[in-house]
Amino acid sequence: MDLPEEVVERAKRNIEPFDTEGFVLGKGPVPADIMMVGEAPGENEVYDGEPFTGRAGKELDKQLSYLGWTREDVYITSAVRSRPYKWEKRPNSEEKRKANRKPNKKEVKAHAELLDLQIETAEPKVILLLGGVAYQRLVDEKGKISEVIGERLETPILKYDREQDTYIPSDEKYIVIPLYHPAAVFYNPGIRDSIYDSLDRLKSYL
Ligand code: URA
Repeated sequence: MDLPEEVVERAKRNIEPFDTEGFVLGKGPVPADIMMVGEAPGENEVYDGEPFTGRAGKELDKQLSYLGWTREDVYITSAVRSRPYKWEKRPNSEEKRKANRKPNKKEVKAHAELLDLQIETAEPKVILLLGGVAYQRLVDEKGKISEVIGERLETPILKYDREQDTYIPSDEKYIVIPLYHPAAVFYNPGIRDSIYDSLDRLKSYL
């Protein structure tokens, strides 16, 4: 996706104060009928320079194939384009290593202008929100994704206004469907049935 150099450079500068590394722009067709917005890249993605190439990516591929899609059918990006990390001690050792963590609100804001522009450029007919970070970024800053998983929302989305340093709802409405983040099943294997229920609902809308 071609994006103005100035916006990409600003996004890279904005994220510098935080404990993050790398920069993965996103991947897929432009324009794209369907856009998926995840959380942030992890270690594998930063290494490969592509979204969802690690363990969550394998789960995402299973879900895409359940839907009858491949990666070529969707534009995949995320709220934050750099890998947020924290230092973690290895068991029985003084050695520390970087572990993935969820991006915070400031990191999401650092890349908000970029995500807005990616959405404007890809012009998706449907936006799939993979997890709470994407849901709060684009639909409801304090909302709980668990209350709307699998619903087809026709709603304004939040766009970042640089001058006012705040999010403002868009004039136009978008079709937005909140889904579980593909990695959610690793932390909570009991939700597998409800993940596939939400994918069935998604199939029924499209
Ligand atoms: N999680 C995300 O949200 N995006 C990735 O690219 C990988 C894991």
